[in-house]
Amino acid sequence: MKLINKIDEVRGLIEEAKTKNKIIGFVPTMGALHDGHLSLIHRASDETDFTIVSVFVNPIQFGPNEDFELYPRDINRDINLSESAGADIVFAPDFDEMLGNDLLTFVDISKMSENLCGANRLGHFKGVCTIVTKLFNIIRPDKAYFGKKDIQQLYIIKKMSQDLNFDIEIIGCKIIRENDGLAMSSRNKYLSENDRNDAVVLFNSIKEVKERIESGEKASNKVIEFITNKIKEVKSAKIDYVKLVNKNMENIDYIEDGNILALAVFINKTRLIDNHIIGENL
Ligand code: AMP
Repeated sequence: MKLINKIDEVRGLIEEAKTKNKIIGFVPTMGALHDGHLSLIHRASDETDFTIVSVFVNPIQFGPNEDFELYPRDINRDINLSESAGADIVFAPDFDEMLGNDLLTFVDISKMSENLCGANRLGHFKGVCTIVTKLFNIIRPDKAYFGKKDIQQLYIIKKMSQDLNFDIEIIGCKIIRENDGLAMSSRNKYLSENDRNDAVVLFNSIKEVKERIESGEKASNKVIEFITNKIKEVKSAKIDYVKLVNKNMENIDYIEDGNILALAVFINKTRLIDNHIIGENL
């Protein structure tokens, strides 16, 4: 496995792999890898011939008061874990390599970016779409793997790829959870022991609501009210949003299979997200 920091170098290796007719798999990450990321890398390595993992903490997807500086970084650990999960290359460009060129061009997506995480994280998806577009153009993968954990991001990348004619199959991978159900996240490191115990309220709410929906509850407002009340019982928790949306990220009144229950909740200062696609297994 190789660690590459330069765009020209990674392009050269990919070109070589393409001339050997290898199918290229790509897993973009911000590092601080955990089993959620590794499940994507394993899947890419199983389904393609040459797997590239990018590690880049993308400053343009963080808001001015967010945790860009604090965000956990450990490239040596990321390299070892990527290798053990089957990666062929870790591409870890520095800021100058990715963004040092006084960027004047950005990729933005309307409507789908205006609800859920986009509503309170202005410019977040513009930052994501811009960097993913750059990475797609550098790596030119056949298949790219994204977690359903960031469900809005997954659907936005699918739509962006369709709109901009990227010839890339976008593959959504299931959410990997801790034993008690908390969705794995690099940000779980910020949680104190008490916060960690409280954080399971996101998954527990989803689990209970899934049963209610399966027993016939179809009204979004009832489900949202139930979850809101449940989360309010946890002192450290503050709701950012609890919503039911369709694949276009539009709020819905009546729940159908394929709709998405999406939550963002602060546990003290740590913002956690989780979701459930109605009709799918947890
Ligand atoms: P990040 O490093 O947070 O940008 O995440 C990189 C990729 O890993 C994204 O496609 C995420 O959706 C995915 N991911 C993060 N956490 C999980 C998880 N718990 N289960 C599955 N995929 C995940």
